[in-house]
Amino acid sequence: MAKKKNREIDARDYYKCPVCSNCRLWRTIPRKVGGQVAECSICGHLTLWPLPNEKEVLSQYSESAFLIAKNVGIALFDHQAFDLLKKYDKRSNLHVLDVGCGLGEFLRKCIQEKHKATGIEVTKNIVNQLQSEGLDVHNKTLSEFRNIQQRYDWVACLDVIEHIRDPMTAIEVLAELVNEKGFLVIQSPNGDAIKAYREKAYGLQVDKEHLNYFSPEQLIRLFELNGLTFVCKKYYPASTLTGRAKVSSKNKYNNSSPMPNGGHTYRSNIAPDKIRSLMEKMPARFRGILRSSAQVLRYIGSIDEILKGKAHGFIIVMKRH
Ligand SMILES: [Zn+2]
Repeated sequence: MAKKKNREIDARDYYKCPVCSNCRLWRTIPRKVGGQVAECSICGHLTLWPLPNEKEVLSQYSESAFLIAKNVGIALFDHQAFDLLKKYDKRSNLHVLDVGCGLGEFLRKCIQEKHKATGIEVTKNIVNQLQSEGLDVHNKTLSEFRNIQQRYDWVACLDVIEHIRDPMTAIEVLAELVNEKGFLVIQSPNGDAIKAYREKAYGLQVDKEHLNYFSPEQLIRLFELNGLTFVCKKYYPASTLTGRAKVSSKNKYNNSSPMPNGGHTYRSNIAPDKIRSLMEKMPARFRGILRSSAQVLRYIGSIDEILKGKAHGFIIVMKRH
């Protein structure tokens, strides 16, 4: 304990933990793509520091264009969040809300499975695109969406919580939006992986726009404090071939940006460029098979990390009742 006290850094002039408001930290870990990640000395939360202000954060997502997410070919683990929800809640005709719906994959999956789906997304041209397809999507932040009276059977927040500047308010609002018999699914990079692998963690090498890194236990506890109950937790490996497709306007990072996290452009992380251009020439079904094989290999290669709870990302499901 005494040893820990020696290491504690008083940083009240420049640091405040967004989870517990503590102004002391244990250490900072430099992020390869810019900025430092600070570890709170009380709750252990990991935050990019200094944090960009709210306007800077939102400006990152204002101009992103629609990119190649379509037709990448559906692979084995692409709908993990949906499959987990379905495992615990077999009801039909549910109303689903996807917070930060991106290119609308989760919305489409829900609609395909006969649910009603609503999305919110901060990037306006994506919202316009999804609306023109007939999807129910609103160009709002979570805080702007807060005052609606609607509550949902399923609330999804996939790869979004780490982008939000004030995660405590986000957690409160997300919990509020779940109705009496409802479920919440949340997917995030794993703070425990950052603590274990430090600078070598996959996230710290690639995550330009990530502001907060939670451990699953930390998020579970915070949602419990907001009235939800734990249902299940699942880890998944780092991969450029799994997960949700990202959006980009230029398909490359803006390294000259004054933002600590590199500015508003971010990459399509579907696959390395060469593999992707090869994949784009194939029929979607074959792309799906190729991606599934790569996902399986990644899982096998990451079994050790998954068992130790130090895999790159996690999904948790919580429920209201
Ligand atoms: Zn803290």
